[in-house]
Amino acid sequence: MRYLIDKLYENNELTQFELEELLCNLSEEDRDYLIDKAYEVRQRSYGKTVFFRGLIEISNICKCDCFYCGIRASNCKASRYRLSKDEILDSCHRGYSLGYRTFVFQGGEDSYFTDELLEDIIKTLKREYSDIAITLSLGERGEKSFRRLYEAGADRYLLRHETVDENLYNRLHPKMSLENRKKCLEALKEIGYQVGSGFLIGLPGLQMKDYAKDLIFLKKLKPHMVGIGPFIPHEDTPLKSEKGGTAYDTITLLAIIRLLLPDVLLPATTALGTIDPKGREKGFKAGANVIMPNLSPMEYRKKYALYNGKVFSGKESAEEKLKIESGVIEAGFEPILTRGDNIRWKRK
Ligand code: SAM
Repeated sequence: MRYLIDKLYENNELTQFELEELLCNLSEEDRDYLIDKAYEVRQRSYGKTVFFRGLIEISNICKCDCFYCGIRASNCKASRYRLSKDEILDSCHRGYSLGYRTFVFQGGEDSYFTDELLEDIIKTLKREYSDIAITLSLGERGEKSFRRLYEAGADRYLLRHETVDENLYNRLHPKMSLENRKKCLEALKEIGYQVGSGFLIGLPGLQMKDYAKDLIFLKKLKPHMVGIGPFIPHEDTPLKSEKGGTAYDTITLLAIIRLLLPDVLLPATTALGTIDPKGREKGFKAGANVIMPNLSPMEYRKKYALYNGKVFSGKESAEEKLKIESGVIEAGFEPILTRGDNIRWKRK
């Protein structure tokens, strides 16, 4: 497999067939070699830096019913909440004083968060702080809404495509369509956002070779950020008895993505840290360069339960940040709290 890894390293490209070959036939030694190559490319693009983003989980109310997700509309056991404007602003103020310069607002598709309200929050923050970036991860919205929020000052949008397998997508996402997801991603790019997409690893029925299609999709999309993570079953969802994804496969795929998209911003996700206590550090060594510590008010954190066992330190943001920073330093990397934009992005 080394010739394929070298080819990927040199050209940042493989065909779908070659990616399938690689995904199916990696020996332990090949995988170590792949990870070393990904580490080298990460060093070249971003050095040893790990960008910190303050994650604020603004609502667990969602109209979608994704089969894998703990906050899906049909889960009547979920205890629902949404943050008020003041709670969101307070979380950002607290984050800013801790040094964070990127805030990620993530939540279910909750119609309470109208364009007017989000615009107001974004503009207020951008007036107060000239050196911050705002990332939104609020699901599918219309093109007009995306544009309005960009014009208000939002910089980035995360919208995973989840899986490019259309049959599986349709089975897991009632009343949604992969086509619309893709349309949203194209619109976000066209408007000028730094765009993030990505997929879940270990969804039922998927094998390693199947991710070749997701990788080709990402290569064509050329996102500025890619979020991949293991699917972890949630006990109150239809997929509660499934096995879920592994840290091993996630790390292999992180390394391949670093080689396919050398300058991409690539988080080591909370889900990866949940299934392997050293998962995020292993992720950095395989090419990941972003981490998103939680800045949500303490009383809501447990309620944003997308999957079982989500890491919850019980620590306040300041203490949690120190702990995560020391883990990053111990792993040989450098925590950075500046905006940390993708190196090829400029605001339109
Ligand atoms: N509603 C927004 C959206 O659709 O992009 C953002 C919120 S959604 C909960 C954020 C991400 O959580 C999804 O893109 C999905 O990949 C991930 N997620 C949901 N359930 C999960 C699970 N059981 N295991 C791992 N990740 C999960």
